[in-house]
Amino acid sequence: MIQARFFEVLQNAEEGGRLSFDDLLFLLSSTRKEELEALFAAADRVRQRFVGDEIHLRGIVEFSNMCIQNCWYCGLRRDNRQLFRYQMGLTEIVEAAKMVKSRGLKTLVLQSGEDPWFTRERISGLIREIKGSTGLTITLSVGERPDGDYEEWKNAGADRYLLKQETASPTLFHHLRPGRKLEDRLNSLRVLKKLGYEVGSGNMVGLPGQNVEDLARDVQLFLEYDYDMIGIGPFIPHPQTPLAGSPPGDLTRTLKVMAITRIVTRNTNLPATTAAGVLDPNGRRRALQAGANVIMPDMTPWTYRQHYQIYPGKVDERLGEGKITELISSLGRRVSPGAGYRLSSTDS
Ligand code: SAH
Ligand code: SF4
Repeated sequence: MIQARFFEVLQNAEEGGRLSFDDLLFLLSSTRKEELEALFAAADRVRQRFVGDEIHLRGIVEFSNMCIQNCWYCGLRRDNRQLFRYQMGLTEIVEAAKMVKSRGLKTLVLQSGEDPWFTRERISGLIREIKGSTGLTITLSVGERPDGDYEEWKNAGADRYLLKQETASPTLFHHLRPGRKLEDRLNSLRVLKKLGYEVGSGNMVGLPGQNVEDLARDVQLFLEYDYDMIGIGPFIPHPQTPLAGSPPGDLTRTLKVMAITRIVTRNTNLPATTAAGVLDPNGRRRALQAGANVIMPDMTPWTYRQHYQIYPGKVDERLGEGKITELISSLGRRVSPGAGYRLSSTDS
């Protein structure tokens, strides 16, 4: 049974109407099977209408797992002394980028912990060299840095930046990222947008202490900041962190947040996150059927990949490249031949 109000709110959202905070809460709170099915189907229609059937692949190279931050949720946190730490050499990173290119991918994501060895100049050098030798679209995801770094890297040729807001709750953010503030993170996101980057953000669903209001607020911030890409993934506890004993985020709830985000943001790029695939072998398929249109294959060289343990279970052959192509065609979708920039909202 679908409640009349659920139907009304969902229909209004699908037609492009504005949702109030209460409407968002109402959609997020539903647990009825039929309502969830209707929500996911609406998100799938909006995805089809605004971004089509193409799936964008972004090859991710995790070039350093060193981190000066101590986020409670993350296995790379600086107090995790059990982790084998690595930094790929500059030449190795360029080689990995060439590998991404040779596999036919158009976008490279360079991700790392917050690692000061990779100075403004070193990263600029990398961007110039990779741009020059591959022409790939370059996304950076190296954490919070001074505004001058973002500016310099944009000038060097970087195209996109990923920096998740993580949670819209300032107190939870501060608690989980000791010494850091949500406000500063949002400020960085504003600066990045102004500098002309395509900006990716997102959150984790199921963080200990997070409530449904926080999730509704997350969606409101996605709209307010007009992010171009939004990664919505479940929280997965890592055994070598203070959150080891916390339960993982719920996949259905994660998909609900993602589906609502698709419906209200229309033409954004939404990844079927790797974390969704870790919780359930069908997690990424379910995400692609509930609004997602991006997959980020892990292209980190095998020797390093196992040590980039943000959360456990990340390295899994089920998530390999071949499987991804298989998954895409089994859904009747196709790999996009382009770089996958956000389409302008007038395209549909
Ligand atoms: N250091 C950079 C980029 C690497 S972390 C940064 O923090 O921005 C990339 C993302 O991994 C984070 O934004 C966070 O959303 C996600 N992440 C970290 N720990 C996680 C966990 N235990 N479960 C799920 N996602 C996690
Ligand atoms: Fe470092 Fe990013 Fe992990 Fe925080 S989430 S500990 S900043 S790698």
